[in-house]
Amino acid sequence: LAAFLRLGKKYEIQQLYAESVARLSREFPSTLAKWEAAHDKNLEIESSPTLAFDVINLARETGFLAVLPTAFYHYCDVSLNIKGIFDGVERSDGSVVILRPEDQRACMMGWQQLIETQARETFSWLNTSTAFCYTQRQCNSARGIHFSNLSHPIPSCLALEPWDADWEEGLCQTCVAASKGLHNSGRLKMWNLLPSFFSLPPWEKLLEDY
Ligand SMILES: [Zn+2]
Repeated sequence: LAAFLRLGKKYEIQQLYAESVARLSREFPSTLAKWEAAHDKNLEIESSPTLAFDVINLARETGFLAVLPTAFYHYCDVSLNIKGIFDGVERSDGSVVILRPEDQRACMMGWQQLIETQARETFSWLNTSTAFCYTQRQCNSARGIHFSNLSHPIPSCLALEPWDADWEEGLCQTCVAASKGLHNSGRLKMWNLLPSFFSLPPWEKLLEDY
């Protein structure tokens, strides 16, 4: 795919380029709904430890920047490893893929901002009591347990994660409904902020050229 995208761009083989761009966009889409759909099924492009870095480098090379936010997110979500950011990640053939210095920086800073901001946005419901909840003490205690499970030993990147039925344990129905609402609006906000976490221009700007 990388070779097709480069060739298509280089020799202006428009159909080849367009098809490669379309395929890459399906895996690293630019709307939350499409991301969720892609997240649920298997990747068309074979997943590998270097996938995110390959896509980021390819995006820089070809100027197809709209895939960058989800490619960075994919690395933070699935395979974040600080050593990998600095030293690169090894392919099965022994070659090493490494990010450009500005992307190494974007990846580290983005990860930290995702972790910090998801607590305020995606998971604001862990810190919010619900009006008309008649079992406040029990629900607060359940929120405390979920909070501790999600943050220890180190917080996982779950900023865009859809609602998980396991989080309903111990909460009354009123709190479940309110929490789901907060979770979904928080995820949407995280999606809109996603490019900014990685020092990228907003979605509208990233999508302008395509
Ligand atoms: Zn409740």
